[in-house]
Amino acid sequence: MSPPTITPPRTDLAYLCCLNPACRTTLSVDRVAFACPECGDLLDVVYDWDRLPVPKRLSDFQAKWADRLEPLNFSGVWRFRELLPFAPPEQIVTIGEGQTLLQVADKVGQYVGMNPGRLRLQYEGMNPSGSFKDNGMTAAFTHARMVGAKRVACASTGNTSAALAVFCSATSFGFKAIIFIGSGKIAYGKLAQALDHGALTIQIVGDFDDAMHRVRQVADRLGIYLMNSVNPYRLEGQKTIMYRVLEALAWEPPDWIVVPGGNLGNSSAFGKAFIELKHLGLIDRVPRLAVINAAGAQTLEQLVGTHGMSWLDGLPDMKVADSYYMKLDEAGSKASTIASAIEINRPVNLKKCLRALDFCDGVVRQVSDQEIMDAKARVGAGGLGCEPASAASVAGAKRLREEGVIAPSESVVCILTGHQLKDPTATVAYHGTDQDNFEKVLGSRGVRRAGFANRPVIVPNDLDDIIRSIALYSESEG
Ligand SMILES: *Cc1c(COP(=O)(O)O)cnc(C)c1O
Ligand SMILES: [Zn+2]
Repeated sequence: MSPPTITPPRTDLAYLCCLNPACRTTLSVDRVAFACPECGDLLDVVYDWDRLPVPKRLSDFQAKWADRLEPLNFSGVWRFRELLPFAPPEQIVTIGEGQTLLQVADKVGQYVGMNPGRLRLQYEGMNPSGSFKDNGMTAAFTHARMVGAKRVACASTGNTSAALAVFCSATSFGFKAIIFIGSGKIAYGKLAQALDHGALTIQIVGDFDDAMHRVRQVADRLGIYLMNSVNPYRLEGQKTIMYRVLEALAWEPPDWIVVPGGNLGNSSAFGKAFIELKHLGLIDRVPRLAVINAAGAQTLEQLVGTHGMSWLDGLPDMKVADSYYMKLDEAGSKASTIASAIEINRPVNLKKCLRALDFCDGVVRQVSDQEIMDAKARVGAGGLGCEPASAASVAGAKRLREEGVIAPSESVVCILTGHQLKDPTATVAYHGTDQDNFEKVLGSRGVRRAGFANRPVIVPNDLDDIIRSIALYSESEG
């Protein structure tokens, strides 16, 4: 192995650094780079914390929460700006993202097998574009503005493109959105957003992994700014989801954070948030992290669970991943799950996620589409609704409870990543009475029963019949 590159000490307070410990190339934040120019590895935003003004206690952030008039304090991302200090405040692009909430959900907790008061749902569907992606977009758009980028692009299973489109349409810095999606793979609510907000929408024949591959090529060739979560600034914004969880718990870390895993940006960001908070002495206990794959897109679960892949101080054995991907290709295997937001086989942030799992004593599980849809129905009935991918967190928590990995008395936060109305097709197929539609949308994916279906009652257009069916329903309710 060649000796590590010696980089001169940097004078900037924030810069990019290659994740590879044998490389550690650094770059200034005024550069545009989505991979290390020396070795191609992922890049991290790092800070010279010793020279930065960091609050002494997390509770110091609390005062900003009530300040609704200053946009940077109103934002649920930027009121924590001392913990992501890569941008001059006057360059920050914000549309009021991160006004989200942590909800105690006892009915959902009962389904999962938790004691009362122990299960909480962090509802990121309240963001302007309806998913957690806005937390990352505000940071990446801020960086795009810093470097003078105008054309911004992403490949997307839907929510990244929705967030990108919203940030372009709702700001006046001349940003133009270009979106790559796989054919037939995007939920209607999300496609509707991309179109309605005026994004150039390029539908390629292929799936997300194909679209991701192409957008990187196009971004390279045309010098377009890339907004996928390989963009390290995205993850800086997404760290704040954890800050808000802590804030809602009066700065007392929960025992568990449970999050769905797709491209693994969120889990990576959460890990980085806790690594930094611990380093800064702002927390003394780190929550455990559970990352939940959907069966049908279970690369992380396979690599970590079956093939024993781990962080190894920054030198995970990537050959394990390469040979796994080769086998997928040989088998012509494509990601497939009703949870379209996590229908991803080649997670770009794999390495960073391994770091997060290592630091947070993490676990990885996969859950079936049946478990996801059932959990989603329980969330809808006992919490704020979510889309299928989000419900993987609740299904995963239930699995971990059943295995005894999570105790009923522990404090668990499941991240509801996206809004219920993102994917009405899945919801209506599950609850509806149209059996053909059920088969087409869910049955074809191995979902056999809609155990928690809330069926619409179909009655003739007759007052007596209507009254009778209401009486019948009220009786069955007891
Ligand atoms: C993007 C997305 C995910 C996956 O998050 P990653 O950071 O890619 O792992 C999960 N749920 C929803 C609703 C999403 O939009
Ligand atoms: Zn490198």
